[in-house]
Amino acid sequence: MAWTRFTKKKDMPGGLWIKCESCGSMLFRKEFESRHRVCASCGYHFTLPGRERVELTADEGSFVELFADLVAEDRLGFVDKVPYAEKLTQTREKTGEADAMIVGTCTVHGIPCVLGVMNFAFLGGSMGMVVGEKVARAVETALERKIPVILVACSGGARMHEGAISLMQMAKTCATLAKLQAAGGFSISVMTHPTTGGVTASFASVCDLLIAEPGALIGFAGPRVIATTIKKELPKGFQRAEFLLEKGQIDRIVPRDQLRAELAKLMAYATGRDVVAAAQTPPKAEPSPSAPGKDAGKKKKGKRDKAEPGPGDGKRGADGAEA
Ligand SMILES: [Zn+2]
Repeated sequence: MAWTRFTKKKDMPGGLWIKCESCGSMLFRKEFESRHRVCASCGYHFTLPGRERVELTADEGSFVELFADLVAEDRLGFVDKVPYAEKLTQTREKTGEADAMIVGTCTVHGIPCVLGVMNFAFLGGSMGMVVGEKVARAVETALERKIPVILVACSGGARMHEGAISLMQMAKTCATLAKLQAAGGFSISVMTHPTTGGVTASFASVCDLLIAEPGALIGFAGPRVIATTIKKELPKGFQRAEFLLEKGQIDRIVPRDQLRAELAKLMAYATGRDVVAAAQTPPKAEPSPSAPGKDAGKKKKGKRDKAEPGPGDGKRGADGAEA
């Protein structure tokens, strides 16, 4: 509808232009999307939809989704404006996703790993029974196959509709990551805008390496809540990636266009591969009609043990989605 263009919407679906939330520049949608939703004027990193994140991170054609059949149940009979069960159905239809987490195996510059990506479009990327279970299974898969796991967070926190069940996911995800660490596994957390609440307070903060995208809001309670509680003015840049790097909360900030190569480098380092070679492997060709076929990801796929779905993967069914 035409009038929606004049509301303070972050995104204008179907529109040709997008206004940058940070600098106000008008961005041509096609170019904006080809830049993986980073503002060409100021470098502001918009929230990236889950599937686009997978595409950006995994070598082309290497992603094999796992546990896609896990769906949440309304255990509490929670009723908000819309009953939770109904909300789930609506959101599934709207987003085409089963829940707020996408998990699978893939290669990144030819290095096999497990990739878990949160999807903010699904109920604010909130962590409920399915998200927690998928994170736990992603980590267990990494443990079984002895490959690294990358978890990309983008979340408003715990899913309130699931009450204590959602909070239990914090302990569960941390416990599996502790198991992975004890077994000598390797995990990377990528915190993107926004990473808040129970996700920050659990798996996103306890991986071996904590990476953030520039400008990402990362925190537990929101800045306004904290400011009112402690009755003090918060320092400039509070809870932003740059502030957290300075304070030692995160290990590094990596811009989106460099993330893939950086992840490859870090995984190569952790798994005893050639770091220089891993970094130099050209990232996936940009979707340009001039260079089809000659895709680096395809060639490399067979070199190392490629990501392949295990026989039992994704077959455990919804019964597993339980705290
Ligand atoms: Zn901008």
